[in-house]
Amino acid sequence: MKVAHLLLALSLAFGPWHLLRAQSELDTLAIGGAEEFGPYEDMDVPELIDGTSDRSLLEREDSLSLIPGYQLYGGWNTESIFGRTAMPLALKDTIRLCLSNEACDNAMPVCGDVTSPFGPRRGRMHYGIDLELYNGDPVVAAFEGMVRISRYNSTFGNVVVVRHSNGLETLYAHLSQRNVETGDHVEAGDMLGLGGSTGRSTGDHLHFEVRYLDQPIDPQQVFDVQNGELKHRDFDLHAGVFAQIAKAKAEAARTKYHTVRRGDTLSSIARRNGTTVARLCKINRISTRSKLRIGQRIRTT
Ligand SMILES: [Zn+2]
Repeated sequence: MKVAHLLLALSLAFGPWHLLRAQSELDTLAIGGAEEFGPYEDMDVPELIDGTSDRSLLEREDSLSLIPGYQLYGGWNTESIFGRTAMPLALKDTIRLCLSNEACDNAMPVCGDVTSPFGPRRGRMHYGIDLELYNGDPVVAAFEGMVRISRYNSTFGNVVVVRHSNGLETLYAHLSQRNVETGDHVEAGDMLGLGGSTGRSTGDHLHFEVRYLDQPIDPQQVFDVQNGELKHRDFDLHAGVFAQIAKAKAEAARTKYHTVRRGDTLSSIARRNGTTVARLCKINRISTRSKLRIGQRIRTT
């Protein structure tokens, strides 16, 4: 049976997957909780950790084990692209994530150059990298995994998120076409869709993200984009990885911008923001005679 069909059958039997998130529910699934699942049906069923047995629970356990990172994430959320409340991970130890065992188990989603890196960008954080492509170019899965999200979003356009067995998730945005559905199993290099410029995008490109427990990681720490290869076979996740990101985020927050409206001049913008025209010109790398465009973002701090 296709995994997608299995998930569909299970979701009909047990309700929406996205509700299976609470830790208490996870504990119930993990350790048994036979009181919720009725009497034993068949004593041949092996015992669960707490000594209870239940065929339906075991079948459900088996199926949940097919979902990559089910326990790590406390569920399988097919509604939200990423958790909004995710706190930066306070890692005491290093988590070593295995990225690759053999040459063919990873792939660059597209072959293009990086047109915009990860990090602060015009006062906001850019949580992925932008990769050059032509409209209609195939976009492929970076690693083997299961499609968690495949839908349209006003920011990301046509977007696909894949969860991998090591707990990483990868996101592919602005696609012109999606070729996979939630619950599909994909191998590294399988086509997820075609590149494009849907959602909040000004031209054809792939916005590619790598996350762990909703926390963004610079994809260029994982991939050597120029060679289209992994940087290392393992990725060491430690507090320093996220501390660097928190620093960049704070820097982005400190940088303020003004969006040019009709009638604005450099001196009026300077006055309103307690700065000088000379300083505005310096930090925006423009001249005092530069013509301002309506909608242009001028850095003010
Ligand atoms: Zn982007």
